[in-house]
Amino acid sequence: MIIEKGFSNHYLYIDLTSRTWSVKRLTEKELTDYIGGKGVGLKLFNDHFSDLAAIDPLGPENLLGFIMSPILATGAPCSARFDGVTKSPLTGIMVTASCGGPFGYACKTSGWDGVLIEGRSEEPVTLSIHYEGVDFLDAKDLWGLTTSKVQEELGLGVKDGAVVIGPAGENLVPYANICSGHRFLGRGGMGAVMGSKNLKAVVARGRAYRVIPVKQRKFKSVVRRSKRYIERNDFLKKYRAYGTNANVRLSMTEKFAPVENFQRQTDKQIEHITGERHKERYRQRFSTCKHCSILCGHKGYYPDGKLRQIPEYETTGMFGPNIGNYNPDIIGQWNDQLNELGLDTISTGGTLAWAMEATKEGIFTSDLRFGHPENITETIDAIATRSGIGEELSKGSRVLSKTYGGEEFACHVKGLEMAAYDPRGSWGQGLSYAVNNRGGCHLGSYLVGPEAMFHFLKPHTTKSKAQWACFFENIFTGINSLQTCQFIAFSVLLEPPIPRLTPLPILGFVMSHLPKLAIGLLDWSLLSGLFEAVTGLKMSQKDFYVAGERIQVLERWMNIRMGITSADDTLPKRFLRDTEHEEEKTPGVDLQPMVQEYYELRGYDEEGIPKASTLERLGLS
Ligand code: SF4
Repeated sequence: MIIEKGFSNHYLYIDLTSRTWSVKRLTEKELTDYIGGKGVGLKLFNDHFSDLAAIDPLGPENLLGFIMSPILATGAPCSARFDGVTKSPLTGIMVTASCGGPFGYACKTSGWDGVLIEGRSEEPVTLSIHYEGVDFLDAKDLWGLTTSKVQEELGLGVKDGAVVIGPAGENLVPYANICSGHRFLGRGGMGAVMGSKNLKAVVARGRAYRVIPVKQRKFKSVVRRSKRYIERNDFLKKYRAYGTNANVRLSMTEKFAPVENFQRQTDKQIEHITGERHKERYRQRFSTCKHCSILCGHKGYYPDGKLRQIPEYETTGMFGPNIGNYNPDIIGQWNDQLNELGLDTISTGGTLAWAMEATKEGIFTSDLRFGHPENITETIDAIATRSGIGEELSKGSRVLSKTYGGEEFACHVKGLEMAAYDPRGSWGQGLSYAVNNRGGCHLGSYLVGPEAMFHFLKPHTTKSKAQWACFFENIFTGINSLQTCQFIAFSVLLEPPIPRLTPLPILGFVMSHLPKLAIGLLDWSLLSGLFEAVTGLKMSQKDFYVAGERIQVLERWMNIRMGITSADDTLPKRFLRDTEHEEEKTPGVDLQPMVQEYYELRGYDEEGIPKASTLERLGLS
């Protein structure tokens, strides 16, 4: 069977309490306005509830969605991804995440553009999704299994894919993740939402359908151009060689490393855990998401003979300098352990580092010390099972710091632990963290890229940062709705003729001083072209950008109704400019002027609330 326009436009709603299911559809306009993945997920979630604030994230009423995109299963570069959406038990606001595991491809080719699950099963259950509907299967024997073990036990065929949780999700750790293959919906505790529903796994039995792009010639030409850009982009070549650990050395030289809970921004021992060191130390092979052309994922043989996934930059940072550890072998072991238990590596690392500093300050009692990795393995186990000290640590750094003190060094935004980029090395990244809808996530506008990695923008100034934060948020939100890998932005934006042929100093000058002109010269028609070629629905470059903006503002509007205020758009005190003690301290981020300019550009009022005119312009009123 064939899906002819990218969308099967069948969204499967499953109620675990009553063990029933139904199907919903969207209009063509809605599909174009929200693209797929993140956009469609947020729209469906928003439409489902009249009172978003009343949803208990771990209550049966919460909705957990897995949403596909129109380009999934077309073979377009880095396109076999899907999105998760729910209300987060860690932050109490919306959380979305993107994953390149096999579930997306299998679900799409079983004929479903989305699976949205509510209710709670009385007994552990697994859902089996196929083109005719859903089967509810007993999962008592699977309960307690780790993420790889449960996928083994599910007997997945080559056409199948699953999303599963490990023990951390079952035990409702608010930063538990969801696993598909060896990839994760990592942030914000989606695994705990799945656990609260007694749902161990969702299996999609795929390939009943094929997706055939409407405009074949355009599709082939866009894919060719996309692959050409990927192949010649120097930054992506580094990711292919060293994975995202290519950023580790930069974090040391550009001073954005999170040393000992972000007390310092660099340490020469980071040299032991760079991407280059990983490459020398472990014989590696690729281990990527499906249909990937960039190839950032690697596995390597460790000295104990085990073949392990090489950790991402964020994991290396959070379990390396962040806790005073510079041994890559142990980081690899912990990465495995965290993935098997189903714990978000960033939030776990951030919480452990807070506990180490709080212990040193004498406000929290534990055996945790910077530079002492001895008891980390058992502490990770304790968090996943919520036993002993793990019961406290499982609450995350926001709750812990409110209980024990140390809020000024609890490195989170809106309850989500910050990733391994110190904003004092990149003020734009500080703004990106502060205003990001899901909290302390590095991916919102990722301004550390243009500032500290490419040196297009000066890192220690507020100039033009709000403009670029809005631009990149809109583009990345569009990408996460089209569901191609966010890394593709490096090639899409940097490889067309104008940026490629413009000398760096000129590019930097225009980006810093004339950001509107610079944005006007950029070309992201590859992204809108991909949507149009597959679906046959008209989409210009501008339409794609506005769709990204619409989704971004919708999410903000949803969060406002869940209680977010301008007071939440900030950074922990550790990172902020402190005029009184400026002489004694590393200069902090001058955040407020950037936030106010950001609100203005976004069409929010001074309190950060979208104005009626903004909502109306974007069709959200
Ligand atoms: S570049 Fe990396 S994260 Fe992106 S699709 Fe490929 S393997 Fe996945």
